[in-house]
Amino acid sequence: MCGIVGYVGSRPVTPILLDGLGKLEYRGYDSAGVAVWNGDRIEVEKAKGRLSVLRENTCGGVHPVGCIGIGHTRWATHGKPSDINSHPQTSGTGRTAVVHNGIIENYYELRQYLISQGVQFVSDTDTEVVAQLFEYYYNGDLLATATRVVGVLEGSYALGILNADHPDTMVALRRDAPLLVGVGEGENFIASDVAAILKYTRDVYYIDDKEIALVRKQGVEVYDQYGRKVDKELRHVDWDVQAAEKGGYEHFFLKEIMEQPEAVRATISPRIKNGRVELEIPLSDEDIRKFDKIYIAACGSAYYVGVAAGYLLEELLRVPTTVQLASEFRYQNPIVDEKTLVIIISQSGETADSRAALREAKSRGATTLAVVNVVGSSIAREADMSLYTWAGPEISVATTKAYSTQLAALYLLAIKMADARRSITDERYAELVRAVEALPTLIERALGIKEQVQQLAAKWFSAEHVFFIGRNTDYAVTLEGALKLKELSYTMSEAYAGGELKHGPISLIEDGTPVMAVMTGARLFDKTLSNVKEVLARGASIAAIVGESARDISTEADCILRVPDCEPLFSASLSVIPLQFLAYYIASLKGCDIDKPRNLAKSVTVE
Ligand code: GLU
Repeated sequence: MCGIVGYVGSRPVTPILLDGLGKLEYRGYDSAGVAVWNGDRIEVEKAKGRLSVLRENTCGGVHPVGCIGIGHTRWATHGKPSDINSHPQTSGTGRTAVVHNGIIENYYELRQYLISQGVQFVSDTDTEVVAQLFEYYYNGDLLATATRVVGVLEGSYALGILNADHPDTMVALRRDAPLLVGVGEGENFIASDVAAILKYTRDVYYIDDKEIALVRKQGVEVYDQYGRKVDKELRHVDWDVQAAEKGGYEHFFLKEIMEQPEAVRATISPRIKNGRVELEIPLSDEDIRKFDKIYIAACGSAYYVGVAAGYLLEELLRVPTTVQLASEFRYQNPIVDEKTLVIIISQSGETADSRAALREAKSRGATTLAVVNVVGSSIAREADMSLYTWAGPEISVATTKAYSTQLAALYLLAIKMADARRSITDERYAELVRAVEALPTLIERALGIKEQVQQLAAKWFSAEHVFFIGRNTDYAVTLEGALKLKELSYTMSEAYAGGELKHGPISLIEDGTPVMAVMTGARLFDKTLSNVKEVLARGASIAAIVGESARDISTEADCILRVPDCEPLFSASLSVIPLQFLAYYIASLKGCDIDKPRNLAKSVTVE
């Protein structure tokens, strides 16, 4: 889940590596390091802690001096964060340096074998095995050595390798972890994520599993695992560089909340033409009518998008829809066949469990549809079809705009599928299209709630735990609200379906316990209000998110947050806004590191 960046060209490499790592720091941030060919040897500078420590140790990139190098920000899986365990890891001789993202699953066996051959290890990482193994196999030929290494490594890896005998070449290889090669003029790059190199080039090769790239100043060659040359297609990335900068905001998280109307608009507008939903996916009406079951598999917030979409799909399509955590789906022997549609949702398109769920679904003959934000990502490439969200780069570790655009993409999909199955009338279709088209403007209005939520945060920020309740779509959004608060502010927060409270959790309610009730849906308003009264009777302090036209509930709630009225099936898009602000302001008041919460990484590429 770390960030890898590498450069070869004519410019001083260390500032380029530090700059690239800065863009990748959201991927992992417990230590950082660089390895640079300094004309004489591979010089390594690395340190535990944030990138700022490395910046200081290298005097802002003044040294090591050279024009080829690799860099890394780590999210430790094997061995605690420490100077020694930081990457780059080197072989005993120091002639091979490696940066790694992922987990080498057979590292222990390989390590034992190498130890039996007299190799001495200094770190606790699985990565050191790669550096030592490379050196052990090294026969003067980089490609031949790399193919041998690929042949024995098990697990997931994106690797950047430097070898002192070939100071003009970076070796890049991957399996089940993201890595791309950026192509410039007289200079080339490797990176986990295009954000790291956007400043220098927009032309990239996406390296596929078990491919090996030899990256030199003059050019890039890509080979398969057997050493046969592969012709790669150069892809052009048109993400906006500005989008990956803070642009005056104190935090990416806040900036990305405010970008939601635009991101949702970009996801919806091009797909509605003359009142019809037109999706760029190869899914005919006949295909759609064939499905007798839908599965949605995802992790984290994307899973909560799935929970909301599950209500929506079942309601509109009348097709049984199961929403499952990708990490469970992959091991549960799911009942999936040719008549099943499996929807995988992932911002990065690299989430390891979601990718495994996708493969599981494919192997059982399902049609697979990915909702992803990163064009060319592994999940996008492996799924039968991809419906892209146009959120642009999302830098804050905790998601906001990717969540919102995923919801929007699923609304469009549901409307299209319901129409193809004739499970809704033409009038309802037209109504839903209008409702989805109105969302960006309504989200913009919903952002106006910021100051009111800030005041609520001032009241609640010292709470030890916060409860969230809702029903149906309102329940789906409470799951996301509770997760946001946990992620950003480390406040214990749990979401419950309103009806579940009295089956246990209500025992935790005491005087002053904050409870956030989401009750935008008119149909279940009174039901949730009953739950509110139940907790109120036990001393809870209530805040409620309701629709603009909902009746007054000031006798029950201390704080009433009104969001614009909208189609109830789409309400999560609006009710999530105050919940995002709540997490943001509580975390600010608690002095938390908002864009990089502790222990988290954005793109979870390990199992
Ligand atoms: N497994 C490696 C380690 O713990 C790499 C982790 C990462 O992807 O940052 O050092």
